[in-house]
Amino acid sequence: MKTYDVIVIGAGNGGLAAAATCAKEGLSTLLLERHNIPGGSASSFVRGRFEFEPSLHELCGVGAPDKSGQVEGMFDRLGGDVDWYTHESTFRLVVPAKEGDDGAFVNEDGVLVTVDARMPVGFESFAQKLDELVPGSYESCMAAFDLSTRLFKALNSLENPSQLPGSLKDIPDIMRMVSHTMSEALDALGMPKKAQDIFNTYWCYLGSPASKLDFLYYMAMLHSYVEYGTGVPRYRSHEMSLALDKVIRRHGGDIWYNSEVTKIIMKDGKPAGVVINGEKEVYGKYIISNAYPYAVFKDLIDEKDTPKKQLKMLKSRKTACTLTTVYLGMNKTKEELGIKDYSIFIAPDSDSDKQYDVAQNYKSGYCIINCLNEIIPDCTPEGTSQLFLTTMTFGDVMKDIRPQDYKKFKTEIARDMIETCEKALNISIMPYIEEIEIALPPTFARYLNTPLGTPYGYMLEKWDSMLPRTVQYLSDQPFDNFFFCGATQERGDGYGCAYYTGEKAGNLVVNAIKKEGK
Ligand SMILES: Cc1cc2nc3c(=O)[nH]c(=O)nc-3n(C[C@H](O)[C@H](O)[C@H](O)COP(=O)(O)OP(=O)(O)OC[C@H]3O[C@@H](n4cnc5c(N)ncnc54)[C@H](O)[C@@H]3O)c2cc1C
Repeated sequence: MKTYDVIVIGAGNGGLAAAATCAKEGLSTLLLERHNIPGGSASSFVRGRFEFEPSLHELCGVGAPDKSGQVEGMFDRLGGDVDWYTHESTFRLVVPAKEGDDGAFVNEDGVLVTVDARMPVGFESFAQKLDELVPGSYESCMAAFDLSTRLFKALNSLENPSQLPGSLKDIPDIMRMVSHTMSEALDALGMPKKAQDIFNTYWCYLGSPASKLDFLYYMAMLHSYVEYGTGVPRYRSHEMSLALDKVIRRHGGDIWYNSEVTKIIMKDGKPAGVVINGEKEVYGKYIISNAYPYAVFKDLIDEKDTPKKQLKMLKSRKTACTLTTVYLGMNKTKEELGIKDYSIFIAPDSDSDKQYDVAQNYKSGYCIINCLNEIIPDCTPEGTSQLFLTTMTFGDVMKDIRPQDYKKFKTEIARDMIETCEKALNISIMPYIEEIEIALPPTFARYLNTPLGTPYGYMLEKWDSMLPRTVQYLSDQPFDNFFFCGATQERGDGYGCAYYTGEKAGNLVVNAIKKEGK
């Protein structure tokens, strides 16, 4: 029987990037996916006249027409064809006023708010806008971006040993910043608190509030959004997944859909192959897993064969946040609905730690609303639009919901999210809904095979943040012929991060096989 150079488990963003990298470099590559389509979170689904985007709010790292970003760069390197659309804005944050709020004002939508911040692309423009909203914040904002520029250089040096300077003392910024949170760093830079709240709006994409959020981790993302703006593919994220599927096949790689890995075959204490759908055995010299460590060590490898360190890591790491999403096909255009922005964050308080408290267990008032027509005007039939509402939760929020109550519970959550948007933006959504689909954490758990349904991997915490994970990546892998990739790894969640770790794992295998003298 054929032994592949590499078997990749799971065709999420990480697995696709890993398999494409290996196939392009001439390795015999097999990619296995449980579903009948690629992508994991990066997919699409159809209801009535609408093709919905299941996950992608905003993609950082696509780049601009004259400057390609990290994600576009990867597609270019691999030869994947994607029709990108970019948007020259970052986010809008709207905080409706509570009774007695000092400084509340009526915004352009006629809503009494304490914050209404529409933030542009470009470091200088972003800092100027922040200063306009919170006088005295320009310098500290520019200082934060200046610091992040230097931090990435240092991080890249650590990732690419050939670029590593002689000693860690040559990259002092990263050593100084590594243990600091967003709040600590922005306080040290002298940013006024109200400006920090606006600056930290994207915290929810990473799942930790400013008091816990690693400065390096957050800035890696915000920097990229502010540098390039938001990007999305023309035909939902499914287009990106299909582009990578084509790269793999073009280079002779095999992809088997409807193929769930149900066991990892061990030989001489390390992985030697996999069992598919409980029946078929396939062998590979190297294995890359886009399936979570949790799933691999719970279901695929016996405890006796699992390195103790992996069990310890599984026990110590906390599952990242979970998401609830309401997908709406509307029988009105975005103009008729009164929606003027792509990505609007509605929060009951501007402070991310208070937003985090609200998000703990479906307390109402926190919701992100996206309208894809703002970037791709004709992404829905004429006279219609699609909206995408998201909120987040932490922990096992379903444990007290009985199966017979699930439908009612789900409907109530969706109603609450829709009403939050209606009130905060002074618009009407409910009467114009033509199609609705609601995804709760169990929906994502079933589809992605992740603990509690998180698409975000494990919480990046102080002891386990981006830098220690980066430096320890190789020693954190369970076997010398087995690498993980995707949202559980050193860069945390997100499309760009999952692609990055997939490409990196692929390159590690390519280099190892080249070294063996293939
Ligand atoms: C609602 C939502 C909104 C989001 N918004 C954004 C955003 O705006 N920007 C952003 O950058 N990121 C966003 N994300 C996060 C992003 O989608 C994920 O972090 C990223 O896609 C994770 O990719 P991954 O490589 O970890 O693979 P996953 O998407 O987790 O896919 C893993 C794949 O492996 C397969 N698999 C698992 N086990 C097996 C097995 N045993 N055998 C075979 N196949 C298996 C699964 O079926 C799946 O296809 C969002 C996610 C969601 C759900």
